[in-house]
Amino acid sequence: MKMKEKQIVIVGAGVAGVNAATKLVDKGYPGELITIIDMGKDPYNRKPEEVMTGFLGAGGWSDGKLTYHTAIGGQLSKYCGEEKAMELMDQVITNFKRFHPKPEEVQCSNPESEPDFIKPYFGLRLFPVWHVGTDYLSEIAKNWYDYLVSKGVKFEWENKVNNIDFKEQLVYFTDSSKKEWQKYYDELIFAVGKSGIDFAQELANQYELPDEPKSVQIGVRFEAPQEHFQKLIDISYDFKLYRKFEDKGVSLRSFCTNNNAAYVAVEETYGDHSYNGHAKKDMRYRNDMTNFGILMEINGIEDPFAWSREVVNKLQFSGTGLYYSPTRIPSSTSEGNNVSAFQIDNLSGVEHVMGEYWTYIMDFIEDMKKVFPTLQDDWGIYIPEVKYLSPEPLVSYKNLSLTKFSNVHFVGDALSARGITVSGAQAIYVAEDILNYFLHPDLYPDFHEHPLRS
Ligand SMILES: Cc1cc2nc3c(=O)[nH]c(=O)nc-3n(C[C@H](O)[C@H](O)[C@H](O)COP(=O)(O)OP(=O)(O)OC[C@H]3O[C@@H](n4cnc5c(N)ncnc54)[C@H](O)[C@@H]3O)c2cc1C
Repeated sequence: MKMKEKQIVIVGAGVAGVNAATKLVDKGYPGELITIIDMGKDPYNRKPEEVMTGFLGAGGWSDGKLTYHTAIGGQLSKYCGEEKAMELMDQVITNFKRFHPKPEEVQCSNPESEPDFIKPYFGLRLFPVWHVGTDYLSEIAKNWYDYLVSKGVKFEWENKVNNIDFKEQLVYFTDSSKKEWQKYYDELIFAVGKSGIDFAQELANQYELPDEPKSVQIGVRFEAPQEHFQKLIDISYDFKLYRKFEDKGVSLRSFCTNNNAAYVAVEETYGDHSYNGHAKKDMRYRNDMTNFGILMEINGIEDPFAWSREVVNKLQFSGTGLYYSPTRIPSSTSEGNNVSAFQIDNLSGVEHVMGEYWTYIMDFIEDMKKVFPTLQDDWGIYIPEVKYLSPEPLVSYKNLSLTKFSNVHFVGDALSARGITVSGAQAIYVAEDILNYFLHPDLYPDFHEHPLRS
């Protein structure tokens, strides 16, 4: 393979960054020409409480549920079509199995029809999901990291990128001793995930990047003993109950279900707490709990990003998020610490902040009580859960490059993804394009006109 000596810099060693690098070196791109800069740590030194940063990013200590459907986990087929999207997601799942110490233990749940007992209250999204488990993820991460290092890929750990000059093609970053560095790139893959969302926003403002309109995604993390939901879990591990109110521009779905050894996790974004969840595979951690998001998608709010941030900020008390339950107290993390949350004894304040939208969440819970009759008051909610769909920069659908800077590619949660498979798939899509471009620049007449890609 004849390849020009072009420097590729990847900002973010998360799911997206790692999948991009893997595709590049798998296809023979010299690893020495790839630099990955991350503010977190390598998989040998990353601690469990470092939920969002380090090798495999937020995916590294997630539950490792690999969803396989173009309607789940953010946008992919919009850019590349259904068939290509499925093929790209296949590649991501294959990568996770490839570096798994026991790939045969990755379970696939693939429900085939909606069970009658959830009707008429809910619909159920049917799609396969592979479940890796948090504890295996760290083993996968080590194997995967070793592979990339063996291919010559350079990693800059505990280095925070604080500016990028898209015109001069320079990335500026600071190491743990506050020393400042810069790195030139020919192609840049920007894969900062949710932990880099504010940085992405700064760049978007600085360069006045045009964006696509987004919806609000907000709700709660629901937690209850697993026995109440077992009938449905047996059909679908990561069940997606959903309902839609077309005329109101609102839809709700259960999101990211964790079972067996399931723990609620605190996320910190913009200094506020919100909630998510993960599950371990190792039966030593079994707590027989289930947790999942009840997420509302709300369309038609004028500035969805600002609205979500304000609501999340108002749903904080004493430096943390809220917990409500008719009967329970907040549970503990897998390390035995309390899940940070301020327990409230009624929901009137939450209702005040969320307005009419709160009713949808409560109706969802009330209807779950009908479908799962043993549930009754045996549940709790961590408030809020939020997916900040920050303004998505406008990209070329061909290779996810900024419309203003054709050698800068946005991928993963920094673009429109909300999950592991879609984040990884977007990144592989970009890597394939870069490989094609370097191998066959003559096939890219449009890009030749652009000074950065000529
Ligand atoms: C607790 C939890 C559980 C989850 N469970 C699941 C699940 O089961 N299934 C699923 O599909 N999805 C899950 N997700 C979501 C999933 O992890 C993300 O969608 C996915 O990791 C996004 O990939 P990414 O590469 O875009 O970003 P990330 O994986 O978040 O990686 C971004 C990387 O960029 C680095 N970074 C950010 N800013 C900078 C900067 N300025 N300088 C240097 N480095 C920077 C960070 O350190 C991080 O390593 C979960 C998320 C969380 C938090």
